[in-house]
Amino acid sequence: MSAQLIDGVLLSQQLRAEIGQRAAALSARGRQPGLAVILVGEDPASQVYVRNKVKACADVGFHSLLEKYEAELSEAALLERIAALNADPAIHGILVQMPLPRHINPHKVIEAISTSKDVDGYSVLSAGELMTGLTGFRPCTPYGCMKLIESTGTDLRGKHAVVIGRSNTVGKPMALLLLQANATVTICHSATPDLGLYTRQADVVVAAVGRRNTLTADMVKPGAIVIDVGMNRDDNNKLCGDVDFAGVREVASHITPVPGGVGPMTITMLLMNTVEAAERT
Ligand code: NAP
Repeated sequence: MSAQLIDGVLLSQQLRAEIGQRAAALSARGRQPGLAVILVGEDPASQVYVRNKVKACADVGFHSLLEKYEAELSEAALLERIAALNADPAIHGILVQMPLPRHINPHKVIEAISTSKDVDGYSVLSAGELMTGLTGFRPCTPYGCMKLIESTGTDLRGKHAVVIGRSNTVGKPMALLLLQANATVTICHSATPDLGLYTRQADVVVAAVGRRNTLTADMVKPGAIVIDVGMNRDDNNKLCGDVDFAGVREVASHITPVPGGVGPMTITMLLMNTVEAAERT
């Protein structure tokens, strides 16, 4: 039997409607949520990402600020700008689009953002808060994956979740969020010798690798939930994930498509973190 699709577009719409209501309530009290998006340089993909983020803000009634700088902007000037945004009461979230030009240290920039406005959840302090169970902002992509899993009605307590990938922005925070939800968590990576050995035991698999066909049908336990974070191109240059979708959907109980699964959720969770930042002020 074919797996049920977990529709990230539909779930995003539902969550954005809720965010819009929360934003309207804040605005009525004179505290309209505000997100500042900073882009340094001309990277074409980054230009699309920031445009989408600013448009998403307008759609849910946020105030947004798009600051574009030439690639030659100095690190000191960028840090100065972040300090000003940290002090700006109309701004509740600050996002610096990555990658930055090579002369700018991304770690320094991320750490310069006030933790209370770190809606990407990338700073060391935010990561530490996640690690220790405090109420920092969760990185948007794994946070979105948790919402997608939640939407299936599955209680993760006692379930075995396997995360493929251990990046700081996806794999590691994903594993911590699953752990917080009482799953038993295994993290696999490029040095894992027999990936299928682990994924075949999993009730939930989250693939965050960046290599298509990493997870095939023979590697999935019947009835598992499969979340595909990957964004790759197939031979016809069409967007595809890390999962062999056609094969795995015949084995899994629930599966996210690419596109239309995790992708739309990432910006939605950025909006969620921003409205929460505004509510916390
Ligand atoms: P990343 O930093 O490149 O990390 C990839 C991870 O996959 C690494 O931990 C790597 O292991 C592991 N890996 C590589 N080959 C493997 C293999 N053969 N078997 C098992 N593990 C393997 O990438 P990322 O930033 O986490 O992103 C992962 C994917 O998700 C990319 O396709 C990216 O475009 C996509 N993504 C999508 C969204 C979205 O909104 N949809 C957001 C973020 C990322 P090592 O640590 O050992 O190298």
